[in-house]
Amino acid sequence: SKTVKRGEFLFYSAEMNEQAQRRLLVENQLRKGLEREELTVYYQPLYQPQTDQVTCCEALLRWNNPELGPVRPDEFIEVAEESGQIEALGQFVLNRALTDISQLNLQRHTPMQVAVNISAKQLLYSPIVEQLQQALSHQSLDASLLKIEITESVLIADFETAVMVLRQIRQLGVHVALDDFGTGYSSLAYLSRLPCEEIKIDKEFVQNMLIHRDDENLVQSIIAMAKALNRRVVAEGVETLEHLEKLTLFGCDYIQGYYISPPVPLDAFSRFLDDMASA
Ligand code: C2E
Ligand code: CA
Ligand code: CA
Ligand code: CA
Repeated sequence: SKTVKRGEFLFYSAEMNEQAQRRLLVENQLRKGLEREELTVYYQPLYQPQTDQVTCCEALLRWNNPELGPVRPDEFIEVAEESGQIEALGQFVLNRALTDISQLNLQRHTPMQVAVNISAKQLLYSPIVEQLQQALSHQSLDASLLKIEITESVLIADFETAVMVLRQIRQLGVHVALDDFGTGYSSLAYLSRLPCEEIKIDKEFVQNMLIHRDDENLVQSIIAMAKALNRRVVAEGVETLEHLEKLTLFGCDYIQGYYISPPVPLDAFSRFLDDMASA
């Protein structure tokens, strides 16, 4: 009846309104948060089972706002992309990560590489090559110690441009990884033509591989395929020893996940590396 429909509509619009309000709040607080330095960067190790070493880590943004509390990166990254703040956010995380890792490397024999996530908007619509070049020139860090992680959304938006930009980035000496592999429209055709040295299997597949036989076969096939195409493979979301052992058996190059370490602040990451070395 009409009344029910009307009620549904009101309910729906109230919910929409709540969502829009939250979005606006996040957008405004994010602008202030960037100025007030509320954002920090955490580091998560990528463990190499073949050598029992950690020579790479991923930089992950964290945001704690006095009004909103901790906001998940999934949420504020999306808002930042839509509100035009992603460039500032991207510059922040890039510079912080490079500064932190340069500092960390002063005390290390084997240099640490850092992976920074780059959103599709940044790769396609900002002068990313110049930004990477400039950020690197401010640090005494070799370009090969920087890796960028991109997702398939970039390839779907504009494959030709993405390939062109990635070629330029690799010419700088910066490495490229394809993130969340398997979740989007990944195809063999994409991967073989993509200038990247690494693919990251999405944590969804990794977590399901001990539950569903199909997912285990899929993970094994992705690793075999990546090897055939001369790409390194990272498994993310590794939470148990059983996962680690199976992935190692399949030939996975790097293991990332809570089983090794969650993302942590720089000082805790440094302690983690010291503990590993002395173990
Ligand atoms: P992502 O790039 O796929 O990052 C991996 C996510 O998995 C991270 O979530 C990480 O904390 C989480 N994770 C790591 N190990 C495990 C595990 O063993 N189990 C489970 N369940 N999760 C694990 P986080 O930090 O919440 O980040 C979410 C997403 O936000 C990232 O997904 C990335 O897409 C985006 N993001 C984070 N930092 C940045 C950034 O600096 N720039 C951009 N553009 N995006 C970022
Ligand atoms: Ca990532
Ligand atoms: Ca991922
Ligand atoms: Ca993800």
